Amino acid sequence: MLLNSNLPNINQHVVILGGGTAGWITANLLAKHWLQLGIKVTLVESSDIGVIGVGEGSTPQMKTFFDEIEVDESEWMPACNATYKNGIRFVNWSKKPGYKSYFHPFASKIDAFTAPIFMQNCVARLKGYDVHAHPDRYYLATKLADKKLSPIASENFPFEIGYGYHFDSVLLGKFLRKIALKRGVQHVEGTVDQVAQHPNGDIKELKLENGQTIAADLFIDCSGFRALLIGKILKVPFISYKENLFNDRAITLPTPVSENINTATISTAMKCGWAWDIPLLNRTGNGYVYSSDFCTDDQAEFELREKLGMLKSDTPAQKIKMRVGRMEKHWANNVLAVGLSQGFIEPLEATALHFVLETVNGFIRTYGAGGFTRKNQAEFNQNLNARFEGIRDYIVAHYRLNSRTDNDYWNANGSNNKVSTTLVQMINCWTSGGNLAQEIESKRISSFYPPFSWHCLLAGYGVFPAEKQLMKDESQSQRYDLNEIDEFIRRASLNFQS
Ligand SMILES: Cc1cc2nc3c(=O)[nH]c(=O)nc-3n(C[C@H](O)[C@H](O)[C@H](O)COP(=O)(O)OP(=O)(O)OC[C@H]3O[C@@H](n4cnc5c(N)ncnc54)[C@H](O)[C@@H]3O)c2cc1C
Repeated sequence: MLLNSNLPNINQHVVILGGGTAGWITANLLAKHWLQLGIKVTLVESSDIGVIGVGEGSTPQMKTFFDEIEVDESEWMPACNATYKNGIRFVNWSKKPGYKSYFHPFASKIDAFTAPIFMQNCVARLKGYDVHAHPDRYYLATKLADKKLSPIASENFPFEIGYGYHFDSVLLGKFLRKIALKRGVQHVEGTVDQVAQHPNGDIKELKLENGQTIAADLFIDCSGFRALLIGKILKVPFISYKENLFNDRAITLPTPVSENINTATISTAMKCGWAWDIPLLNRTGNGYVYSSDFCTDDQAEFELREKLGMLKSDTPAQKIKMRVGRMEKHWANNVLAVGLSQGFIEPLEATALHFVLETVNGFIRTYGAGGFTRKNQAEFNQNLNARFEGIRDYIVAHYRLNSRTDNDYWNANGSNNKVSTTLVQMINCWTSGGNLAQEIESKRISSFYPPFSWHCLLAGYGVFPAEKQLMKDESQSQRYDLNEIDEFIRRASLNFQS
């Protein structure tokens, strides 16, 4: 393979720095695709520097990952106290009557029967007709979550169902480590305290505190928020999203597992952010994501404890600082940044591990196609940056459109004009009753969030003409029989169990 100077020739040795979820997911993907090419893969991690390790939710890409590395749910889910996730319910984000909560489901093929009706009703309501356009009645996954059913259908149900998981990320890291080591990844425990570079800036070797040196051709920086190689050594600039997204702290507190486990993440709006409720087999993971510009850590802890009925409990809370934004480049010199080191958008839509998978799979594809050229490197970085911005915009939309005005935090979010042109155009298209799906396609952002997700968000927050302006029109309101949709979804849900 012909490689340009300053781009990695990885025919010999790849070193992953960091053994958090990002590091071990990367190790497994490289074990699957590169060990067979004779490339040696080593992961270095420090037992003195911890991992982030909060209870986490995933998107459906996590299922694709486990299918790809050929690990069955029956093997990994019990080992990680994992549960199924049909989507996310957003509670108390909107103060509008009738819009107290809405559900953002994962897409499934059966939605083809009901989602178009929802979207057509959205357009009719935007045009001023009084038709039903709240997303909760149109998706099977919503019904499954409401009935606390898992997304695994009986065999005679002929539609594929999209779903994600909740899991203990510390246990997930440990599980993935075992698999990667069994498959031939080398493991070194130690703290990197020095890094040597070649004259062209490429990383030459890592030096550990115990004196050991590890040289490689390619380094994958999975060192978390420290961003040791991409940030501290290569000095790739960090682009903060602080002016778009205000939250920069999280606080976590576990509670005992409830008897009847939810099959969805619950995101509840709080005074200065939102709280998650993530059900695991052995506990419920709770956390409050907030902005330190609007409340202190102690105020946030009090509010979370109050919500959970834990004001008198001595269970300690874990406090986490979040660096929200992304690196200007994810791949620079012979370093690929993966995970928190490459960037982080706050966890509202649980997209971080999705990024890890996109990044590593994209990199493996680029290598496989003989594509380690400057042009492809630039394209690779551009694509990931566009994905980051696309997902950021969707999350910003939650804060801009929810209609809460009860304090400075929500007012500042609602009136924040530091939003991208793309988002402004999307909102304008929606409110003027334009074709949002077409707008999304033309902007090439449907692979970040597809039209149905945008419809759920905008309709879920009730971004429609005011109730009193709506016209009663029988030809519109009787176009679809909602009872038929209810019955269709009810009967489909009978194929699932808790
Ligand atoms: C509050 C919060 C909630 C989140 N919720 C979700 C969610 O629901 N869904 C989701 O997909 N993601 C979520 N994330 C993101 C998710 O936690 C991370 O993407 C994921 O855990 C990967 O982290 P990481 O491996 O990049 O970093 P870390 O877990 O921080 O791991 C860093 C690793 O680098 C090693 N290291 C660092 N420096 C050195 C050194 N000098 N020498 C040797 N080793 C070193 C450490 O030992 C560690 O092994 C959340 C994040 C936060 C902050």
